[in-house]
Amino acid sequence: MTAFRRPTNIRDTLVRSTTPSNNSSGFKPCNTPQCKTCPYTSSTSSFRSSTNGRVFNITLNLSCHSHNIIYLITCTKCNKQYIGKTKNSPRTRFTSHRFDINNDRGTSVAKHFNLDDNTSQHVNIIAIDQLPGLDSISLLNKETHWIHTLGNHMA
Ligand SMILES: [Zn+2]
Ligand SMILES: [Zn+2]
Repeated sequence: MTAFRRPTNIRDTLVRSTTPSNNSSGFKPCNTPQCKTCPYTSSTSSFRSSTNGRVFNITLNLSCHSHNIIYLITCTKCNKQYIGKTKNSPRTRFTSHRFDINNDRGTSVAKHFNLDDNTSQHVNIIAIDQLPGLDSISLLNKETHWIHTLGNHMA
C-alpha cells in the first residue's frame, strides 16, 4: 500500500509556529463574587510595554489567586507601568497597594496614583509571570528581568 503524502505547506508551518501552544493561557480574573481585585484586572493573554511598545504573551494560566508571581500595574489614565514581585497573590498584593495609595504612603505606586487626576480607580493589575516554587532570589531575578525588558518604572 502506498500512502499519499501531503506536501509540506510552508504556510501551515508558519501559522503553527506563531500560535501559542496553549490557547487558554493568560491572566484571567478569578470572578469570585467577593473579590475586590477582579474589577481592577482584565482578561488578557498578552501585555504591552508602554515604554518600548514590545508585546509579550503570558504563557501560564494566572489569576487573582496565583502565588509567587511577577505582576504588572498599568495606570489606565496615563499608561505608566510598574513591575512588582510577590510571594502572595495579585489579590493580596493589590489590597496592600490600595492601602498605600489611599493613605499616600510614599511608595512609587502610591505617589503615582496620588498625582493630580489619578486615583486608585485607574489601577489595572495583572500577573504576567510565575515561579513554580518559593525562591526569593529567582523571584527577584525575574522581577529585575521584566523591569529591564519593559524598560520602565512608575514615576
Ligand atoms: Zn478576582
Ligand atoms: Zn497615571
